[in-house]
Amino acid sequence: MRGLTMDYQLTLPAIARRAESIFGERPVVSRRADGALHRTTWSATLRRARRFASALHRLGVRPGHRVATLCWNHERHLEAYFAVPLLGAVLHTLNLRLHPDELGWIARHAEDRVVMVDASLLPLLETFRERAAFRHVIVVTDGGAAPPGTLDYEALLSSGDEAAEFPEPDERDAAAMCYTSGTTGRSKAVVYSHRALVLHSMATAMPGSFSLGPADVVLAVIPMFHANAWGLPFTAALTGAGLVFPGPHPGPAALLELCHTERVTFSAGVPTVWLGVLEVLDACPGVYDLSALRTIVIGGAAAPEALVRGLEQRHRLHVATSWGMTEIAPVGTLGTLTPEGAALPPAERHALRMKQGLPGAFLEMRVRNERGDVPRDGLTPGELEVRGAYVASAYYGPDEPGDWFTADGWFRTGDIATIDPRGYLEIRDRTKDLIKSGGEWISSVALESALMGHPAVAEAAVVAVPHPRWTERPLAAVVLREGKLVTPEELLASIEGRFPRWWLPDDVLFLPEIPRTSTGKFLKSALRDTYRGHYGGA
Ligand code: AMP
Repeated sequence: MRGLTMDYQLTLPAIARRAESIFGERPVVSRRADGALHRTTWSATLRRARRFASALHRLGVRPGHRVATLCWNHERHLEAYFAVPLLGAVLHTLNLRLHPDELGWIARHAEDRVVMVDASLLPLLETFRERAAFRHVIVVTDGGAAPPGTLDYEALLSSGDEAAEFPEPDERDAAAMCYTSGTTGRSKAVVYSHRALVLHSMATAMPGSFSLGPADVVLAVIPMFHANAWGLPFTAALTGAGLVFPGPHPGPAALLELCHTERVTFSAGVPTVWLGVLEVLDACPGVYDLSALRTIVIGGAAAPEALVRGLEQRHRLHVATSWGMTEIAPVGTLGTLTPEGAALPPAERHALRMKQGLPGAFLEMRVRNERGDVPRDGLTPGELEVRGAYVASAYYGPDEPGDWFTADGWFRTGDIATIDPRGYLEIRDRTKDLIKSGGEWISSVALESALMGHPAVAEAAVVAVPHPRWTERPLAAVVLREGKLVTPEELLASIEGRFPRWWLPDDVLFLPEIPRTSTGKFLKSALRDTYRGHYGGA
């Protein structure tokens, strides 16, 4: 027998209708480049999003077309987050920290037709615009004029019709896409359906996860260009939480100022952000009133113990750790305590909270090694695999290898983890040859091949080394060719233009040889172990 329930589609337009009709008065606040605060509401934001959707439609954007954004976190970016899916089109957030070559490749691979760009990021757009095939460039200005040949966002919006209606997308249609760093080269595209984003929002909104509701004010620190700002724009709309955006180049003092003035109750971000915040709090205790701030989530990379203790013990803030991935929309776990966990003696309780936590609703985890599932004893590591309602089933594109997806329907994360008898995940290491610095990825393989292109270099291996501020930074180990000499500075200068500046290794070590595995590959784990303390972050 089948259920007699309406075939109601779980879509972002349905979330938008809920936010507009029920939570319309809740605030949306954005910090402008000059520090001024722009205040609006969910209902005004979504009315503008509808105008934008209609204007995009007039520009020829149709369901399934990709609309790119190259923007910081602000309310007009939020408008795009809803306008594009309202139209049935696909929101593609370009990561402004990537190298122009990569951005050009990504925009072409995604077949972005339109790009919305902050005026301050136009110089970056110009570095790769030729390689993409944008038919329209829409510029978000703070009052200045949009350059010739581009469209001004506000002028475009005023030509839009907020009453325009679009057919409801199917919940399995694409709503958004993000590119994630590839282990061996090009980025890979993850495409989210409406259904996945709605269920991800439901799962993260729940008690035991972010536990969000209309009494909350969320500070969206995670870039909207990295994994949909952890879905917070959608989750806030679904739950009626207010949203606060820190604008371009958010610094720790500006974040604290916003927490204070806007009575922020919840925020989430990578460790580097909170390390900066802790430094300011330690330097100026008592300056900021953070009494409304009930939870800070630290994720995207391992939260240093000293950071958690500092925020909790010196500043009475409550911290929860989280693990996630772009491929899972992206929040996977949260380090919350069940009543049984909360009843443990303090040291055990703390150790449990420092793990990455329990999976969200509709997400399942298993840990495997070459012999199959490992025991859930919190000790035996293996590769973490996940499946669930918001996990990618494939990467987008014709040439993507499927080896990240198992025959029995799980996604291989590339993370090495344990799961304990209570179900708590702990990330131990990763198989991916990538370095995560300040929340963004650096490809060690790309750096190695560039270094090995230098005439004095015989071999080069680049590894992630723990760093007190950036979580990890690259370290290069280089074997020189017989009779050749080069300084670290010369070597780095030779590869400089090919990568973003922040990708360059902080140090280059010249070694007689690079340790190898029995099959002759670089044994990077040995290098990582030997030089673990090199940057003082071990
Ligand atoms: P991204 O797709 O950029 O969000 O990166 C996802 C990857 O970041 C994961 O596969 C992990 O390697 C790493 N990561 C995310 N959260 C954590 C965490 N809490 N602890 C350790 N590594 C993490």
